[in-house]
Amino acid sequence: MTKDKLNKKDLWVFVIPFLALIVLFGMITSIYVKKQINELLKISEESTINIADTYADSLINYREATDIVVNLLDEKILVASEAVLLLDDSISSHSLIDVAKRFQVDQINLYNSRGEILYSNEEDYVGWNAYEGHPVYDFMISKQITLVEDIRQDTENKKFYKYGYVKRNDNTFVQIGVSADNIHSYISKFEIEQVIENITKTEEVEQVFFIDKNFEILASSISERVGEEIGDSGIREYILKAETGAGRSAIKGVESFHTYAPIFYNNEWVGTLSIVWKSDLMDSEIKSIIFSGIIELFITIFVIGAILHFAYRKNKSNIKIAYYDTLTGLPNAFYMDEYLSYKIKNLAKNKMAVILINYKNFKILNATYGFKYGDTVLKQMAIKMKDIIQPNNMLFRFNADRFVLVAEDYKDKEELLAIAQEIIEVIRNPIYGGFKYEYVDAEIAIFEIHDPKITVDKILQDTTLALNNLIKKSNENIIWFDQDMEVDLKRKDKIESTIRDIISGDDRKSFYLEFQPKVDTKTNKVIGFEALARMTIDGLGNISPLEFIELAEDRLLIYKLGNHILERAIDFVKNLVNSGHKNLMIAVNLSAMQILRNEFLDDVNLLINESGIDTSMLEFELTESFFLDNFETINDKLEDIKKLGISIALDDFGTGFSSFSRLRDLKIDTVKIDQSFIRKISELDESDLLTADIISMSHKLGLNVVAEGVENEEQRTYLKKFKCDILQGFLISRPIKCKEALEFLKCR
Ligand code: C2E
Ligand code: CA
Ligand code: CA
Repeated sequence: MTKDKLNKKDLWVFVIPFLALIVLFGMITSIYVKKQINELLKISEESTINIADTYADSLINYREATDIVVNLLDEKILVASEAVLLLDDSISSHSLIDVAKRFQVDQINLYNSRGEILYSNEEDYVGWNAYEGHPVYDFMISKQITLVEDIRQDTENKKFYKYGYVKRNDNTFVQIGVSADNIHSYISKFEIEQVIENITKTEEVEQVFFIDKNFEILASSISERVGEEIGDSGIREYILKAETGAGRSAIKGVESFHTYAPIFYNNEWVGTLSIVWKSDLMDSEIKSIIFSGIIELFITIFVIGAILHFAYRKNKSNIKIAYYDTLTGLPNAFYMDEYLSYKIKNLAKNKMAVILINYKNFKILNATYGFKYGDTVLKQMAIKMKDIIQPNNMLFRFNADRFVLVAEDYKDKEELLAIAQEIIEVIRNPIYGGFKYEYVDAEIAIFEIHDPKITVDKILQDTTLALNNLIKKSNENIIWFDQDMEVDLKRKDKIESTIRDIISGDDRKSFYLEFQPKVDTKTNKVIGFEALARMTIDGLGNISPLEFIELAEDRLLIYKLGNHILERAIDFVKNLVNSGHKNLMIAVNLSAMQILRNEFLDDVNLLINESGIDTSMLEFELTESFFLDNFETINDKLEDIKKLGISIALDDFGTGFSSFSRLRDLKIDTVKIDQSFIRKISELDESDLLTADIISMSHKLGLNVVAEGVENEEQRTYLKKFKCDILQGFLISRPIKCKEALEFLKCR
């Protein structure tokens, strides 16, 4: 569980997939770019192969055509030589001229056995002697009878001829020569050069080479390089493979792209055609592929980045709305619940405590200076507290003016106390911006968590309870939720559940009413009873109504319990009537929360109608404190109650707002002087007592006066002297059960 939901660490949740996507798209783009480049290379490779194939085809055609022509020449030479042989002894230069004409050959020479030309159709050649190393000489000394040479240059006239030889019986021999100047020029212009010339004309081609098996450049678009041997091992490798291929390598220091296509003739590999492509064109194409790849990648990264950025921001603001308080920026109660639940579950050996901080007088501050001012104070308080908290502690805004600090890994109680004191100090000290800081004070309740099964709700409930206890003590600022409180809490829970059972009718033995008689001061006759609620719980004994009534009010059970009391009091009235006592008045104590409920009057009416009792036998007792807050509203309600015929008594008179002017306006019939005034009768001098004045003033306002808590004769004498109307107290009787009350009436 992170201490900060907006922590930068959360950013990784977005950054990691973002980086992963960048890597992924980077890979996809590079694969795509590589593929595009490969395709481009392949197209170039294919086009070289096509060119090579075309060349191979034309080479084959050329070779065939050359063969045919050469064969024809050979035949011509042979036929002419046969004719010369037929001449026999009649050979002369003249006869040779005839034969040459007839068979359309260019040279006919007859050599003697020593290689000297005896006769020739060309007069000039007669007498020429073949010398050692000359092809004629080679034939002469060989054992061959006939020979047709390849086309060669004549050693004498430097023209090209195809020569044939035939030996005669006497070792003389005939040489026939056919001019092959035209054929030679055709052959010598080796077709590959033509092809190379054509290829070079192609726009994208830089250089063309035809390299033979020995790595010698046989032909090239760069004539100076013909005859050169390729030294580059990379290129040699391509050539040796005798396969089509493409590659990049440096030729004479210049990076270039080249393709290779082997040329086959008669199934025999004769060499490799290598084309060097204009690298700038190729490069710019490759560059544009890479460039567009990068652009696509950047667009993708930008789009994904933007999407993730907005998702992150949205997520962050959602977290902020859900988990943070808008005013102070502190984590809120929702976050606190999640955080504490997690921490409690993982409560190992670590110490952990909840510190509940409450701003004292915050309501007054709001009321005096306005809510805006209150908000500003809260904000500044939050900032100041944030400044002092340790990193292992965490501060939340719990509700309006309450904050919760979750402290962890502290040493001991002392340290917790120091934290609490520091917070109080910080809050008390003047804060920025001219605040009326004298209004700002804090109360703190500390709850140490030991039970890993405890719920967050329970902790907060208990801590709040501790704080409420503190508020009652009022002079202290820090309170610990301790064992006593826990016991107290358990007691309260038990009482609460008993009240619920009483209301629902499940519990009929724990609760009952007692009745305390009231007597006429003059006649000492019983004029009525006050109904007092009683509760006895197994294990807890008797519970004072002061305790369980207050608890019923706190836990919002008082309305239903109040109705239950009223019902039982009416039962008592019925009992009295049935026993023949009609002119008595039964007083029932009410809580302000009962009267303020809209349905109260209807419910009272219903009970009265169901029971059929005379409403004049009912009286409601209300304490002075009732009227503090809702004077007008309650007074109006009283009027409605009185309309039903029920009397109203003001209880505990003299303890609250003892103003007679107000008393005049109240719709009441009776005043009950508080016990404290009666007690004083025995304690003070007659002249110092206000009791007599209260009685006479009340009489002046036309009200009946009851004295409660009358315990001795001295008090009774005094009250009688000053004409108090009714007496109630232990002197007459303690509160007694219904049966005893009926007995009590019989005795009088
Ligand atoms: P209260 O209405 O002022 O009731 C009078 C209290 O004084 C009663 O205490 C009664 O027992 C006591 N008392 C009567 N005579 C004497 C005396 O001579 N000396 C002394 N020392 N005390 C005397 P109790 O019954 O404990 O009731 C306490 C308070 O609880 C009541 O004060 C009343 O405020 C409240 N209460 C009791 N029953 C009910 C009820 O049914 N409904 C409501 N709303 N409050 C009730
Ligand atoms: Ca009372
Ligand atoms: Ca009273």
